[in-house]
Amino acid sequence: MINLQNFVQAMYAKRIEDCSDQELYYALLALSKHRSEAQYTNEQKKKVYYISAEFLIGKLLSNNLINLGIYDEVKTQLVAAGKDLLAIEDVELEPSLGNGGLGRLAACFLDSIASLGLNGDGVGLNYHFGLFRQLFRFHQQAAVPNEWITPRSWLTESPISYKVPFANFTLTSKLYDIDVPGYKMERKNRLRLFDLGSVDDNIIDDGIDFDKEDIFRNLTLFLYPDDSNDQGKILRIFQQYFMVSNAAQLLIDEAIAKGSNLHDLAEYAVVQINDTHPSLIIPELIRLLELRGISFDEAVDIVKSMTAYTNHTILAEALEKWPLDFLNRVVPHLVPFIEELDRRAKAVRDDESVNIIDSHGRVHMAHMDIHYGYSINGVAALHTEILKSSELKPFYDLYPEKFNNKTNGITFRRWLMHANPRLSAYLDKLIGHDYHHDASKLEQLLEFKNDKDFKNHLEEIKQHNKRKLQRHILKNQGVEVNPESIFDVQIKRLHEYKRQQMNVLYVIHKYLDIKAGNIPARPLTVFFGGKAAPAYTIAQDIIHLILVLSQVIKNDPEVSPHLQVVMIENYNVTEASFIIPAADISEQISLASKEASGTGNMKFMLNGALTIGTDDGANVEIHELVGDENIYIFGEDSQTVIDHYANCSYHPYSFYEREGIRPLIDFITSDVIRNAGGIDERLWRLQDNLKHNDHFMTLLDLEDYIVTKERMLADYEDRDSWLEKVVVNIAKAGFFSSDRTIEQYNEDIWHLEK
Ligand SMILES: *Cc1c(COP(=O)(O)O)cnc(C)c1O
Repeated sequence: MINLQNFVQAMYAKRIEDCSDQELYYALLALSKHRSEAQYTNEQKKKVYYISAEFLIGKLLSNNLINLGIYDEVKTQLVAAGKDLLAIEDVELEPSLGNGGLGRLAACFLDSIASLGLNGDGVGLNYHFGLFRQLFRFHQQAAVPNEWITPRSWLTESPISYKVPFANFTLTSKLYDIDVPGYKMERKNRLRLFDLGSVDDNIIDDGIDFDKEDIFRNLTLFLYPDDSNDQGKILRIFQQYFMVSNAAQLLIDEAIAKGSNLHDLAEYAVVQINDTHPSLIIPELIRLLELRGISFDEAVDIVKSMTAYTNHTILAEALEKWPLDFLNRVVPHLVPFIEELDRRAKAVRDDESVNIIDSHGRVHMAHMDIHYGYSINGVAALHTEILKSSELKPFYDLYPEKFNNKTNGITFRRWLMHANPRLSAYLDKLIGHDYHHDASKLEQLLEFKNDKDFKNHLEEIKQHNKRKLQRHILKNQGVEVNPESIFDVQIKRLHEYKRQQMNVLYVIHKYLDIKAGNIPARPLTVFFGGKAAPAYTIAQDIIHLILVLSQVIKNDPEVSPHLQVVMIENYNVTEASFIIPAADISEQISLASKEASGTGNMKFMLNGALTIGTDDGANVEIHELVGDENIYIFGEDSQTVIDHYANCSYHPYSFYEREGIRPLIDFITSDVIRNAGGIDERLWRLQDNLKHNDHFMTLLDLEDYIVTKERMLADYEDRDSWLEKVVVNIAKAGFFSSDRTIEQYNEDIWHLEK
């Protein structure tokens, strides 16, 4: 039993009633830390080190209270004292240690690893300002530092520190830990975040600009510093090597402490390389093992038996290739190791498609991972098939046994129990608690598919969540939304392949349709949210168009009662937790073949939104699970798209000339948009791009998208049948629990004992 009053009394010598939300936040932070300190860490022999540039962990207070099993008690005692947990959570700042799905996946995985009782830590960097905070200024995105580290926080300073050698100096790291308590477990794991004491927050001038060459003071300021120039690229190599050298030293130390003689290191440690950012751990481990007296040949064998790589994308731009010249400037001592690994790989097969060092002297990180790791996995069934049959086919021919699929998942503790407490409490009543641990139990809900009472409850819960979101947006952005409208949501990083621009074209279609006198049966609110990389111009242009369009519609009394566009500022885990439970429509409209998995799609499904999407990523698996009648699939399939690329057979201009498309594209540069604050340069560039380039084939699927969405909106009016689809979606969401994903990683790749 928790006695919060006693705890607060000891801390502040006052009653809960008399504490501010800030004081209560710090009390609950201390209470949670105290509780998880008491939990033991798993000292099983073998441990997984999940190394990742990103961990998008979100606020931790409620999640940790849930996992520690004290959420309900704490909440009851706060309510009894007239306090509101939501207001207390508001005090916590969200760590922006990630960019998007890849970082959120890492966070869900840490939760599941701990909740399954497995021994595994995350290893990354403690970025002082994370990614960046997004603001909207003059209908454009502005990027400013995202402060999140407060004097009291979830970070716990550890005495651990390592020396990391660079070309002209050696840096000494400092380790901070964040506890990761497993759900209702007596044990915890940790997120290990390395930092550098000399980093100086004051070197930032305007926005997020700073001296890229001042490594002592800038190393851990930002995640993904702009790498559109050489200084930025070199800084990223500094960060990556700093991360992996620390990780390698940590895992070697921990193994030795448990009795390893290093020859048997693979019995103590397995490294999961999350995307290519941590790839330098391969040569670094070999280097460190050699320094400790192990021969090069044996070191290679050891590393080959303990490193596994997860591929997250087939977009060429995201597969890192570092010029050897840059590596020589930053980590010259590592280069001979990379060159030797390259020579050995070339002895197996010398071909540009599989070489580590290419003919331009660039080091292909993914290639090094595949040659020198024992496992390579994709993140959804379709994605893994595309890797095997096209993107990485030459590797699949060489090493078929290394390839495997691990369809992504999400933790239901955060995305159901925390984000949607009403739904979760109602499900508890209906089918019991078993689904908390075994998500497949949600299938029991299928029995209630035609249950009037259940459907009424679902409707009521959605209404409640819409009103909660309405209050949240009003408070944060001063925007009033209509909770009686249909909530149609696309929240994810801004990228052309995700095709926010296609959704914008739908909104333009709807606007023109309403202007033409076709009044929809029910108002529609279209939500967007997502950050664009500061150097990614077209993505900035898309944000600009969304913001201007939102203004145009708001100021048009003919349209505004029926249509609204809301762009959520600074989309992050906190925003997602408010938005997703309130959504009716989940937009998953990437160009088929391009979205490796997606995990947003899973969160929406679990929270009772229906998907409009392409047969891409994990949408394919959602589609298979729920069946044709419970999802809205449109657009060309991945094979057609892959063929278009191979044959250069997609020509956007011929689509532009169609009468259903041309007016929508032309509208981008119309006086209506230009007079509402539209910036000509941005609008013309975006329009031109869609007509003449359109690399991600927006216009290819646009007509089918519009027709499908109209059908979906019409279907919404049949509440009974819509809710039946909702039930099927929630019931089938169990497969997408990250507990299932992690069980599979462990079964097929890690082989840890429980
Ligand atoms: C889940 C999540 C993502 C990933 O969304 P996708 O739609 O899969 O791209 C990105 N950002 C945040 C904050 C998330 O919670």
